[in-house]
Amino acid sequence: MLYRKMPKTGDKLSILGFGCMRLPAKADGSIDEERAKKQVRYAIDHGVNYIDTAWPYHMGQSEPFVGRALADGYREKVRLATKLPSWLIESREDMDKYLDAQLAKLNTDHIDYYLVHALVGDLWDKVEKLGVADFLNKAKADGRIKNAGFSFHGAGEDFGRIVDAYPWDFCQIQYNILDEKNQAGTAGLQYAASKGLGVIIMEPLRGGNLTRTVPPAIKEIWDEAPVKRTAAEWALRWIWNHPEITVVLSGMNEEVHIEENLNVADGAYPHSLTEAELQLVKRVERKYRELLKVGCTGCQYCMPCPSGVNIPLCFEEYNNLYLTGNADGEKFMYAARLGGAVALGTPEFASLCVQCGECREKCPQHLDIPVLLESVVKELEGSGFEERVAMARKAFKQM
Ligand code: SF4
Ligand code: SF4
Repeated sequence: MLYRKMPKTGDKLSILGFGCMRLPAKADGSIDEERAKKQVRYAIDHGVNYIDTAWPYHMGQSEPFVGRALADGYREKVRLATKLPSWLIESREDMDKYLDAQLAKLNTDHIDYYLVHALVGDLWDKVEKLGVADFLNKAKADGRIKNAGFSFHGAGEDFGRIVDAYPWDFCQIQYNILDEKNQAGTAGLQYAASKGLGVIIMEPLRGGNLTRTVPPAIKEIWDEAPVKRTAAEWALRWIWNHPEITVVLSGMNEEVHIEENLNVADGAYPHSLTEAELQLVKRVERKYRELLKVGCTGCQYCMPCPSGVNIPLCFEEYNNLYLTGNADGEKFMYAARLGGAVALGTPEFASLCVQCGECREKCPQHLDIPVLLESVVKELEGSGFEERVAMARKAFKQM
């Protein structure tokens, strides 16, 4: 296992972190606790020292599970990360209430890395007004949290202002070979690093989309490389090639994936990919863009939509449907992410489009947005849609 230092504190973190959002589950959907505990402890025994969870993961069961998995001396071996469920916060008091509940659920007296969860611009504005800076300062001063950070899912232009709004120790962003220009993107990564923040990466495999089903045209390109690597190894090594990155979180729930990730993390030094290998990754990225149903880059120029449609997110979910072929899973993710379950409770569905056409001329990719949104409605909404939205809201608002 390789380790990298947090820029502000020098804290040595394993470059591979264990994400506890997609733990192995039983048929009834509950965590397969025995198997998951073995996996977490195996990873720790093999050098992983960063464990990440959050309030809503596994319908609220991830945090108590992590508390139990880290018993028997494992808590002392790791840095523990969890997150303030920012979308549930209605007052300054709520912040302490959730943190104290999380300390109890995790059976610990401090959180090493505490993040304000899933920020987008509006959500940041809300928690900032409610006093999140004061909360983080006090929680650090009284020792309940050691490092303050935020995780981000918003538009690139909001990222910088959040970085600048508080003396953060670290941030967590979505980053992978297809998201260089999406959300925080490469520009955000470099900006955060230039301000001395450690950067934790989530979704390195785009929720498994880069590895679950590798399209033959993509596999052909990977196979051209003289050094043989799996799609997962290429994707991870490309991320670790960036010196600005401290930890990559992987939601590992198969023993074989844990083993593979541990092996890759043994040799993934910054700047270790050759120029030819970086060119190969670029070709894969270009091929993926050709295969994607909608050539949306997530640039956000079409936003805001006066009817509240989150246009790039609709297209991201629509593309995921075609990349993965997992219709049930992607329909649920669409209902969860566009239904307001993880943000401010405001739906942002494609079906809100009133076909005004205002967005059309703003798109640098010349996408016929209103027409494409009709296809999104047809394929991702339809039968059972309201039930999926209700289920997703329940999952995030439980307890
Ligand atoms: S056409 Fe639809 S998506 Fe575009 S701005 Fe109008 S309402 Fe929004
Ligand atoms: S302007 Fe076009 S490419 Fe950019 S986010 Fe909107 S739809 Fe996607």
